[in-house]
Formats: sequence, C-alpha cells, structure tokens
Amino acid sequence: MHIHGNYPIAAIATAPGRGGIGIVRISGPNLKPFIKDFFGRSLTPRHAHFSSFDDAQGTPIDEGIVLYFPAPNSYTGEDVVELQGHGGPAVLRRVLERCLELGAPYEMRLAQPGEYTQRAFLNQRLDLAQAEAVADLIEAGSIAAAKGAMASLSGAFSTQINALADQIIHLRMLVEATLDFPEEEIDFLEKYQAAEQLQAIEQQVANIFAQAKQGQVLRDGLQVVLAGQPNVGKSSLLNALAGDDVAIVTDIAGTTRDRLTQTIHIEGVPLHIIDTAGLREAHDQVERIGIDRSWQEIHKAHVILHLVDARQPYNEIEAALREQFPAQTPVLTVCNKTDLLDQKQLEQLKKELQSTYKQQQILFISALTGAGLEQLRQALLTQAGWSGATESPWLARERHLHALKRCTAHLKQAAIHARHDDQILDLFAEELRLAHQELCEITGEFSSDDLLGEIFSSFCIGK
Ligand code: GDP
Repeated sequence: MHIHGNYPIAAIATAPGRGGIGIVRISGPNLKPFIKDFFGRSLTPRHAHFSSFDDAQGTPIDEGIVLYFPAPNSYTGEDVVELQGHGGPAVLRRVLERCLELGAPYEMRLAQPGEYTQRAFLNQRLDLAQAEAVADLIEAGSIAAAKGAMASLSGAFSTQINALADQIIHLRMLVEATLDFPEEEIDFLEKYQAAEQLQAIEQQVANIFAQAKQGQVLRDGLQVVLAGQPNVGKSSLLNALAGDDVAIVTDIAGTTRDRLTQTIHIEGVPLHIIDTAGLREAHDQVERIGIDRSWQEIHKAHVILHLVDARQPYNEIEAALREQFPAQTPVLTVCNKTDLLDQKQLEQLKKELQSTYKQQQILFISALTGAGLEQLRQALLTQAGWSGATESPWLARERHLHALKRCTAHLKQAAIHARHDDQILDLFAEELRLAHQELCEITGEFSSDDLLGEIFSSFCIGK
C-alpha cells in the first residue's frame, strides 16, 4: 500500500462509455509544476478556467473546464486537478495519456481502484466507514440504499460509533487512574458506578447493532433461490414482486453471479433472485458447469422460494428437487395461480398443504391478480431481517456487524470481571481496551493494511 500517496495519480473519473462530460482527475502532493507545464500558467484555486487541452505539438486534444483544488481543501487532501472535457472514451484516453506524459517527471501514475478515496482516508478527510460509504453510494441500486449510503457518508454511523468510543474511553480513564492509585481500588467500581456505566454502554452497542443490521440488509440484501418447474409462473412472479421497481430489474454483471441472477428491490431491500430454470439434466460440459454454479448459489442462499402450481402442487420432479435443497436453508413454499381455483378448492388445498408441510410457511398467491403478493413480500423481508424501518438507516457492512459483536463480547467479559469479588481491575481494563479497539476498527483508526487493501481494491477506478 502507498501511504499518503507521495507520487501523483491520474485516472478517468467518469464512467466508461459516452456522455456529455468526461473528467480526468489528478491528485498529488504538489501539482503546481505540472499545471504550469500543461497550461503554461498557474490556476486560481477553485475557479473554473476554460482551456484547451493540448498535445505535445500544441494541437488541441479537447477543450473544457479545468479546476484546481490546492491541498488540503480537496477530496484527497492533496492538490487535485480536474480536467472536464467531452465524455468520449477515445478523447478521454488521449487527455489522460497527455497528463501522464507531462506528469512523468513527477512520477505520475495511473490510479489504482479506490486510490483517491484511500488517500482521502489516509489524510483524514474521511474515516473508514465513510470511505466505504463512498463505494456503497456509487454501488447503490435503490433509492433507499443511496439514502442510507449518503447518511453513512455524512457520518451518521461514525458519529454514533465515536460517541460510544468516547464513553468507553471515559471509563478506561477512570480504571487507569484507579490502577495508578491501588489503595483506592476497592472503591472504584462503586464510586464511579462503573457497572452501571458499562451496562448503559452495552445497551447502546445493542441499539447500534440493531440499526447496523438494518443497514447491512439494505446494502447486501438477500439471496433468494427461485425454484419451480417451467410455467409455474416464475417470471410472472418476479415482475409482479418488483412492482414499481421493474424499471431497474437488472442482470447483475459480474463474475460470481451469472446470468441466472436478477436483482429486484422490495422497500429498497435488494433481493438477489437466482433462477434455477436451468437446473435440469445437463446435456454438455458447458451446461454442467452452469448447473454446478447454480447449486453453489443455492447452497449460499438465505431462503429458497419454491413456486408450485396451485392446481398440481405435488409432482415427482418437484419432490426430487426439494430433496436436493440444503436442509438448513429455510424454504418458502408458494402456490401460484390461485385465481384458477374456486373458493372451495382453495380452502381444500390450504388444508392439505398445511398438514403436509407442517414446519414450513406456505403462501398462496396469484402473480396474475396480485393476490397474496403483499404477504409474500413481507415474508421475504422478514426472512432478510428487515423490520420495515420507516426512516432510512445508514448503510453498514458485514464487517461492521462483526466488530460490534466482538465489542459486545468484550464488554460482557468486562462486566464479569466487574462483578468478581476480587475486582480484578487490570482484566477489566484490558477488556475495555479490546472493546474500544473493535470500535476503532470500524472507523479505521485501528486497521490492518490487509483490511484497507481489501476495502479499497473493491472501488472503481477514478474514485
Ligand atoms: P415460468 O416459466 O415459471 O417463468 O412461468 P411464466 O411466468 O412464464 O408463466 C407461465 C404461464 O403462466 C404464462 O402464460 C403466465 O401468464 C401464466 N401465469 C403466471 N402466473 C399466473 C397466475 O397467477 N395465474 C394465472 N392464471 N396464470 C399465470
């Protein structure tokens, strides 16, 4: 990892493709000489200069706006220059190459993914949870997720973590002070009501955890396997579930999820639906690989939505398929096309199925009329751990939840030492220190290079 970025970096900051405007962004400790070389003059800070972007022969490559943000008042905390030209891939590449050419004497390089934000973090423009929120805001696929990411970026999550950390620090100071004056040790816990303070802190961690869990669901969503025979109405159901969100139903482009995965949003919570349409016998090698991959997805799923036709809810193929579902994964059995049954038939079916699948939740829907869909949506959200918060929480990640869990464990351990008759103060102090450290891991005050590398490498280039 490159600490504090001592060489300048450059990248195209706008998305690949064509657009009205394309931006090349440069960050470095001192860009003044580079600016002089490129534009033949100095630039007024934070002022929009119209300029031509010339090649080595003085022929314009493009023209547009150039902005200069001197350190430390910039995104990265270093000198930043932004060249805003036309948003075409070829012209932007030429501008970038020209920057690198002029920047060569200053060792200017192509930026790595997330390197601007990484520098912002290293220069304390953002803490780690906020830096992660930058990536999450860019990744957000629903309005709710975008709001949540923005709340995190504004520091809503970090503020709570810091407030909690302050309380632990306060308690730690009391303990350390007491350790320095051993004759008062006996009084310590009572005198400062340490046990009560600890309990209050633990309660707050629990509250933050509950909120963070919502934030994590909103970010990561739920992996749903959609299983069912051809024609039971899987695609109709997907479209009906997506509702107003249908416009942003997308295939996830990526390596781990293949074309069988679609993401829909319910109340802003992403549901990654893995269609098992292809789960029949493989005819060739390629198909077999696809099927193997689908099974891997099934084993990672949070819930299996097993769709059956209300007119023939049992058949051998269904039964065989069910046998293969992982035993620990919850199954939602959903009878579709209930509109094709009359009231009496439907009652009969409900009775039969409920006695067959005693342990499992069974839902009756019609993708065509929309009957029962609301219950299905709620069942899926409940499965995701979504409590239907009306205000959008800040976004959180799995790693934040883990840190909060470990923090809780240390606080509990501290409480045990506090209750201990001998009042083993140094053990109490040590547990508090560890609990504090877990919180620092969230905001990045205490993070390994490995963790930072992992977080920033998942960013897009130019951010
Ligand atoms: P898939 O092969 O499982 O994706 O099934 P489709 O969604 O393509 O649906 C198969 C057929 O069933 C289509 O003609 C749908 O219009 C019809 N269908 C789907 N859901 C319902 C429903 O709830 N009621 C009725 N009557 N027909 C439905």
